[in-house]
Order: sequence, then structure tokens, then C-alpha cells
Amino acid sequence: MSEKIPLTIDGHVIQATEGETIMQAARAAGIRIPSLCDSPQLESFGSCRMCVVEIDGSNGTPSSCTTPVSEGMVVSTRSDRLWRLRRGITELYVSEHPLDCLTCTANGDCELQDVAAEVGLREVRYDNDPICAEMPIDDSNPFFTFDATKCIVCSRCIRACDETQVTHALSIDGRGIFSRIIAGDDTSFMASDCVSCGACVNECPVGALEDRVERSLGIPDRWVRTTCAFCGVGCQFDAGIKGERLVTMRPAADSPVNQGHACVKGRFASAYIHHSDRLTTPMLRESIDEEFREVTWKEAYQFICERWNTIREQSGPNAIGAITSSRSTNELNYLGSKLMRAVIGTNNVDNCARVCHSATVKGMMTVFGAGAGTNSLGDIDQTDLLLVSGCNPIHGHPVTGSRIRRARRRGMGMIVADPKMTELAEMADIHLQLRPGTNVALYQGLAHIILRDQMEADEDWMESRCENLEPFKAMVQTMTPELCSRLTGIPAATLQAAAHLYASAPAAMSVHGLGMTEHSHGSEGVMALSSLALLCGNVGRPGTGINPLRGQNNVQGSCDMGALPNVYTNYQSVSDPANREAVSAVWGVEAPAEPGLTYPEMLQQVADGNIRSLYLIGSDIAHTDPDNIAVQKALSALDMLVVQDIFMCETAKLAHVVLPAASFLESDGTYTNGERRIQRIRQALSPPGEAKQDWQIVSELAEAMGYPIVSSDDVSAVWDELASLTPNFRGINYQRLESAEAVQWPAPSEDHPGTTVMHQERFSRGLGHFAAPEFAEPNEQASDEYPFILVTGRNLFQYNAGTQTRRTGLIRFRSTDPLEIHPEDAAELGINHGDEVWLESPRNRVKMSVEVTDIVRRGNLFTTFHFPEVGVNSVLSASADGYTHCPEYKVQAVSVVPVD
Ligand code: SF4
Repeated sequence: MSEKIPLTIDGHVIQATEGETIMQAARAAGIRIPSLCDSPQLESFGSCRMCVVEIDGSNGTPSSCTTPVSEGMVVSTRSDRLWRLRRGITELYVSEHPLDCLTCTANGDCELQDVAAEVGLREVRYDNDPICAEMPIDDSNPFFTFDATKCIVCSRCIRACDETQVTHALSIDGRGIFSRIIAGDDTSFMASDCVSCGACVNECPVGALEDRVERSLGIPDRWVRTTCAFCGVGCQFDAGIKGERLVTMRPAADSPVNQGHACVKGRFASAYIHHSDRLTTPMLRESIDEEFREVTWKEAYQFICERWNTIREQSGPNAIGAITSSRSTNELNYLGSKLMRAVIGTNNVDNCARVCHSATVKGMMTVFGAGAGTNSLGDIDQTDLLLVSGCNPIHGHPVTGSRIRRARRRGMGMIVADPKMTELAEMADIHLQLRPGTNVALYQGLAHIILRDQMEADEDWMESRCENLEPFKAMVQTMTPELCSRLTGIPAATLQAAAHLYASAPAAMSVHGLGMTEHSHGSEGVMALSSLALLCGNVGRPGTGINPLRGQNNVQGSCDMGALPNVYTNYQSVSDPANREAVSAVWGVEAPAEPGLTYPEMLQQVADGNIRSLYLIGSDIAHTDPDNIAVQKALSALDMLVVQDIFMCETAKLAHVVLPAASFLESDGTYTNGERRIQRIRQALSPPGEAKQDWQIVSELAEAMGYPIVSSDDVSAVWDELASLTPNFRGINYQRLESAEAVQWPAPSEDHPGTTVMHQERFSRGLGHFAAPEFAEPNEQASDEYPFILVTGRNLFQYNAGTQTRRTGLIRFRSTDPLEIHPEDAAELGINHGDEVWLESPRNRVKMSVEVTDIVRRGNLFTTFHFPEVGVNSVLSASADGYTHCPEYKVQAVSVVPVD
């Protein structure tokens, strides 16, 4: 705990924290000192000289933003001399600034204007002839503009880019009065390394960097706190609204998740909500060969109920299933599962996390007894070493990616295990560039070295906290460094260095992504990684643990809510009669006992008539599933497909009924981010046309089926009901979620603070269980006919199926899915950068444009899957993890053939 230091500022005795500057202490005490270059989010800079103060016993007027506090210091911030000095400085700034305040969009929200008013500047004695007056506006970026004539060169934009985003895209060119901000090597923002996170726009104290929408619509008339609806980081924003338009998304500085930062998607791409393609009216058709016709909600519900009742009578309730959404709220996912279980009478409910992190749940459940991230994102700020496995946070989880880069700057060690030379791999101490599909071998090989060199945790840990150590030892004994090296392609010396670095760190933390899970042995890979953490005692302490980075906003929550065929909320088994009794008592019906089907199983059972109707809420599986031509065929064969979405996605095109849903800014509820933090979304706008909130549609459908499943039209009642059924959520209610920190489950009682680090005293399953899966080769193997292994993943500038991001300015950054290939492979095939090729497999072939790059391994290819017109997923096989049916997206045998 830092010491408190008493000092006096303007006659007020305040307590500052040791190491703080006068500016920081004053700000914390609510005392304003004028400044232009200082920002609470950035390190002190001391360039504008506006924050000068006087200190008793010292000569001169030091800047308060660079002067540390000391005990007994007496500071004055408001003497006549100081105001005179500040007025003179402001006069110089204003003389270099255009005097078009009335037409400037920053008018009313301009720090230079504020300071000029504060110092009492009435006239400027110098020429108003700015050096940059002739500089053209840089309007290359689709989301913001840069007008150098308004820039006061305070460097806040550069420092935000360097310190917060850590991209280093901006710098200063020239000296003194000729200084100016440049992007890249004096090119445009769009042509530079800028990733459009908007940190510079947020920091700009004047109107030099301007949000284009804000410029056209003006200052918002209200602000609504909400959670980003893209990735699972769960950044908090204040949505700025004017009338019925979203003006801007301002990242929340008081959120422990994003600390005032954002990425381009959350900051600028939520504008998709106003796209003219939004679904606004329910539509139906008797057969998918017909055209849709617009209908009322009543007609749509009636049609669905009649078909469901007929199917239930003819084939039983298990002929119906639902796939809910990791993109919608916890309340929707709970009600979707309740609709299937309590109204239809089947456990056939699953969600789209099936095809991303189901293997994480299985793997971590096996070792720790809970499938959720063990620690918090804030632990990245204090860990000694980060092991990054199979994820590329710079693209997939950008705000966490920046947090990792900041931690690296403070000296955190880092090992990256990834077949690709990602940006983080380039920055790492050690890059383990493994052959795709060899995660089990890698983590068991590292465990072998740690045990061999006696670097594992002490006996007390092994005896008091763990079980199954001997079988684990016997298994990893077989994975010698030589064998591991042969299987993974990583030199044995590199394996040894990584094992030693990991085992010798006082606290080592692991983050992982779909490169760990989307394999035919994905669950075993997560077991091997989790067992490695157990071996070194890297669980149950701050700065340690196994932390899956969730791809979609509510992957954690959709699984927590029991939208899975075998469990109720928080993984309570449907096979346990006590759990069944508890939900049956609350629901007032007998809950079905037989576990349901996973959604890949449901799709497989369409052809033989066992599954006749599916209800899809916010999942575009006709686009995003592997072998999606087979998926489309299965969906087309249903007696009734109901799709609830905000756009006419690929899956909706195959539906009998399309139900228009509200977007996140038009909805109330909660999401749970990847660190188990349950956060509110709040309705800021009305949905377009007839569209309704997801949870309302499900509850109205249940009512039409004759069984109301909500007790109130307030969504908080849905939360209260599910929390009452879930010991780990019992202490959480909407009132507690009002704070910026919200609550991380488990929180079993209202006086429980929530859990930042799980498994501290005991594991959820009691003892940590060393899992000892045997390494097996991936199902997909390269062959003479299909000699390349294709890995698919994400790109910063698009999101998942792309239905939202393709309808925004992000299309300017990424307008197709290119195929990345190693230069030597390209040369062998006679292919050049930009050439068109066929990407082929036994399923299909698609035409793609080639990017020749040495960031992929030889023999590997990489691409994204955001564009249905490219159709990458039609090439992939449905091969999947044996435990969870999570598809093997990361290892696919394919060939590449030049188009001509
Ligand atoms: Fe949204 Fe994720 Fe970007 Fe944060 S990092 S703004 S949650 S997409």
C-alpha cells in the first residue's frame, strides 16, 4: 500500500499518494488546474505550461503535471502571477488557431475555448496567421478527420497512440512553431499503421481530430452506459444519442475492463444499427421455395405454434430444437433454454459457443471443475509472464491486445505459442511456432522438461491441492523433448527455454483462444495447458491462471445460462434429479430428464427426420459453420426453420419465418465477458419498425404456445429468476450491476464482493485434477492431393459472420478474405501476390486472392471467414472434437491451384 502524504493546495489540506504529481493529487481532490497537454489517461508530459503553480519556498513556476508531491508542500494554483502567465500562453496558442469557433464541431466541448475563458483572454495581440493554415484536411479515414490547422500540437494524440494503443502510428515533424503531427512517414492516416481505435480522437482537446458522425450530427443530447456487442473483452461505453440516432460511442474511463480505451469496432462500427438493411417486420412463407410475405407478429407466432404443435404430436418434442446466441443477452439465453425445456419439453438447446469455446469448458472442467476464466484481465497488469496460446488478441480482442503490449513495455515476460508469426509473437521472448494440431504434444513436452528439471510446484501444493499426479507423470514421461520437437516442429532447445521461463516465473498467466479449442483434440489441448498451470502452481493466485479469450461478446454468458443440452444455469447437470426438481418447481412443469443433442448432432439428424424444426436466434450457421453447404442442405430440409436476427443473414435466407430483432443499443439485459464479469446493456434507442428485443420475442412465443415464461415485462425479473436457481449468481442483481466494476461470478450472496481470482482455497471440483490425455494426430492430415494445412481466424477490421461489420466503414479496411501463403510455397506454385487461386478440398473449391507473406509457416495457409461471397467455410470439413463437437477449423487439408 503506497503511503499517504499530506500537502496543502490553495489552502486545502489534502492527502496525496506517494509518487503522484501535484496535478494528479489536485485532480483526485477535485481541485482544477488548467491544462491542455495533460490527460488522466496518459503519462505526464509537461509541454503546454498551462498547469504552472507556485510552491512555497521554491523559486519559479514549475508545471504541476511533472512535479511530484512531497510532505508538507504548500502549493498555490491561482495567484495573479500564474493567471498572467497562463493568459500569455493561451494568447500564443490562439494566435496559431483558426477563429471559427461558431462553426467548429468542438464548440462547447473545446479545452482551448475553456482555458481561454478561464484565463480571461479578451484579445490577442499577435497576428492570427497559423503556420498550418494551408494544410489540407486528412479525410482518408472513414471514421474521423484530421485538420492540422486546428491542431495545438499538445501531443496527446501521439501519446494515446504510443501509451494506450501501443501502435506508434503518429509522430511530430518539424521543430518549434513549425511542429506538426504526422501519421506514418507523413502519409495519410489511412495509409499509416493507424488501426482507427479512436484513442487520438478521444484525447484531442480541440477539434483537430473529429469523429465524422459527431461532426455531422452535433453534440449528443443523452448518454447511456452500455457494453460493446462485438468481442468478449466486454468494453464499457457511454453511447451518445441524439434523438433516435447514435452519435458516438465514448469508451468508459471508469471501467476496469477497458479503462477508457476501445478498438475500431466498438468505437466506430456500432453504426450498423442504422443500416437500411435492418429487418423491421416479421416475414413468413409456407415453403422455402416461395417468396417471403410480411405478416403481423400474431400471424408469425400462430404459424410457428401450429407447426410446432403438429411436429410435437407426430414426432414428439425431441424433433424440435433451438440454437441460441453468444451475441445476445444472458436473459435471452436463459429464456431460450426455458422455452425448449418448459414449453416444448426437450433439452435440445445449444448455442453458437459450441463451435468456439466448448472445448475450453470441457478441458477446464476436467482439471479445475469450472469452465470459466480463472482470473481477471487486470491480472495482465501484474503477472510476471504471459503464455499466449492459439490466439491473436491484436486482431480478435484488440483492447486486451493493447493491454498485453503495455504489460510488455513494463517488462512482463511473454511466450507465444502460435503457428503464425503474429504481432505478439514478434514481441515475445520466445515464439513456439508449432505445427497446427500439436497442442497436446507441446504442453506435455513442456511439462516433461519441468518435471525432469525438478521445476514443478512444491510438494505441499501437489499433496494438498492436486490429484492424479502419477498417471500424469507417466504420460508426460513419454513426451520427450526430442519427440515433442519432432511432432511440433519446434527445436528442443527452444522447448527447454520456454519450459524454464514458464516454470521460473513467480506468477505466470495463460490466455488462450480458438487456436487451442477448434481442433479434433481441442478438449485434450485445454486439459494439457491447464495441467501445465497446475504443475507449476500457476492457479488460484493473482497474475496466474487459465484465461480463455472469448470471441463473441457473450460466449461466457450463453453457456453460463444453460443454453446447452446437458446442463442448466452454471453447468448444473440435467441428469441430476435434484437439479431437475429445483427448476421444475420454479417453472411449474416437469423438466425433461434426457439430455438433448448438441447442434451439430441436431443438424445431422435432420436428414432422417429426427429433427424437424429449428429455432435459430442470432447465429448465422449457414455461413459460419464448416462444410456449410451440408449445413445449408440440412436447414433447407426442415419442416420449419425460424430465424431471429437483425439482418437477412445467410441462415435467414433459408427460413420459413424471420423474426426481426433489436440490436444491443435497442435492448436491455446483461452480457458476461471472458473474465466472468456480468455487465449491463441498456436500451438507448427504439428498435426499427416492428423489431423487438430478443427476450421479448421468446417470451411472447412461449405465451402463444400457452405457457407464459416471464412474470413481468421488466427484464430484471428474468435475471432474478435465473439467479434464484443458481448458487453462484444468487448474490447478483441489477442494482449491484449499476457500478462501473459490475460483478464477477461466483457471488453466492449479496454481501459477497464477487470473484476476481477463482480456485484460491480449493478448486471448484475439490482437488485440481492432472489430466493425462494421450497425444493423437489431428483428424485432418495433409496428403499428396491436399498438401496444405489451412488455418482460419479473424481480422481486426471484420467480426465473425461480418453481417454487422460489412455494413460499416470497416469495409474500407477489409473487403474480402485473402489467402495467406508462405513465399517459398508461392514460388513453388508459381503464384504471385494478388494472384487468384482455387482453394480446394473434397467438399468444394472457392476462388481467392493470394497474399504472399512469411508470417505463415511453410506448408500452412491462413485466411478469415467474414465474407459469404468468398465462402471459405464451404471448403472445410465437419471434423470435430470428440468430446464437444467443436469443429476442427484450425487444421484443414486443402490444395491451392492457380486459377489460370
Ligand atoms: Fe468491443 Fe472487443 Fe473492441 Fe472492446 S476490444 S471495443 S469489446 S470489439
